[in-house]
Amino acid sequence: MFALSEEHEALREAVRELATEKIAPRAAEVDRTAEFPWDVYEALVKAEFHALHVPEEYGGAGGDALSSVLVIEEVARACATSSLIPAVNKLGSVPLMLGASHELKQKYFPPLARGEAMFSYALSEPEAGSDASGGMRTRAVRAGDTYVLNGVKRWITNAGVSKYYTVMAVTDPGKGANGISAFVVEDGDPGFTFGAPEHKLGIKGSPTRELYFDNTVIPAGRLIGAEGEGFKIALRTLDHTRVTIAAQALGIAQGALDYALGYVKERKQFGKAIADFQGIQFMLADMAMKIEGARYLTYAAAARSERVMHGENVPDLTYLSSACKTLASDAAMAVTTDAVQLLGGYGYVNDYPVERMMRDAKITQIYEGTNQIQRMVIARQLLK
Ligand SMILES: Cc1cc2nc3c(=O)[nH]c(=O)nc-3n(C[C@H](O)[C@H](O)[C@H](O)COP(=O)(O)OP(=O)(O)OC[C@H]3O[C@@H](n4cnc5c(N)ncnc54)[C@H](O)[C@@H]3O)c2cc1C
Repeated sequence: MFALSEEHEALREAVRELATEKIAPRAAEVDRTAEFPWDVYEALVKAEFHALHVPEEYGGAGGDALSSVLVIEEVARACATSSLIPAVNKLGSVPLMLGASHELKQKYFPPLARGEAMFSYALSEPEAGSDASGGMRTRAVRAGDTYVLNGVKRWITNAGVSKYYTVMAVTDPGKGANGISAFVVEDGDPGFTFGAPEHKLGIKGSPTRELYFDNTVIPAGRLIGAEGEGFKIALRTLDHTRVTIAAQALGIAQGALDYALGYVKERKQFGKAIADFQGIQFMLADMAMKIEGARYLTYAAAARSERVMHGENVPDLTYLSSACKTLASDAAMAVTTDAVQLLGGYGYVNDYPVERMMRDAKITQIYEGTNQIQRMVIARQLLK
């Protein structure tokens, strides 16, 4: 894949138009108030960009993985918080795409596709971060035709605004990673509550909260796949969704570069535009190269993700999804930091968007597995 299809180019244009009109003007306020942008959510739902990946047979748009990447990239170019709407809807629901029965998909995908409910993904816990299986304490115990959940999940994106949660919990403590199962928990289930929103460096309009399960009883039919398959499903999900984090990082980086390009042409020092100085030009060239390289790797990984969704055996998806996530998020951090530099003092204040982009970029190096963990995954693939 060396060029986007006409359909993909048209999709990118449509998302960019929506992002320019409806999302970019809200980004600074969303960052300042740390409020979830419901108006942006509605605009995304209206355009069917909020959960493009849901298969057509369940009422969705049936967009391929590259389409989701383009949507997330273009929304993130305007507002990283808002790009978490399509990204986390995908993260929360891919476990069902990979492992759930037709009945579960039939129950949960149509409301997601119609924009009546969002999905979140709950793997991390206070003691279970990078070592997500080893530290997991949340328990699910079978009781007749129900499961009873107890425990705490931490750092859950869009908690409180999502209606559905894919929750990984230990069903067989003796079996380590093979004793973990995945479930759907709904907002409103008995004994299921949320912690206060975290005060974060960036992506401020996307609530990050703890989930508490206190004897939460759910029907046994909410088990995704079989008992003991939960951790495998959780990791296979990340193979697909790390590509979407790469897309988010790319969008943030592109937004910062685009802003800086406009600025350096306008700003005059020593009697000319600062864009005329070679020291500035070399920075711009480096920023653009980092983004472009990460973009092609991300699109190639997206194409593989799509093939895997169609049942093909594509052994290098794990490697490429970790690689594109790492390359793109490191690029986003470097590019946004340089964008602040290019604006000088103006880059450091929130009258200009690049300091927000720099703060937003940082999370892409941390979530869905830190970049140290990604490098471990990449090295493991190389050495096996
Ligand atoms: C804003 C935000 C949103 C999030 N959203 C979600 C979500 O929706 N769902 C969810 O399940 N989780 C979510 N997370 C959790 C996120 O995935 C974890 O924070 C991340 O995996 C790291 O875990 P930790 O914070 O416990 O860090 P730790 O695992 O404690 O790591 C601390 C440091 O040690 C490093 N480290 C750890 N082990 C190794 C090693 N073996 N070798 C080298 N370095 C190592 C790490 O890279 C890191 O730099 C979110 C986190 C944040 C901050």
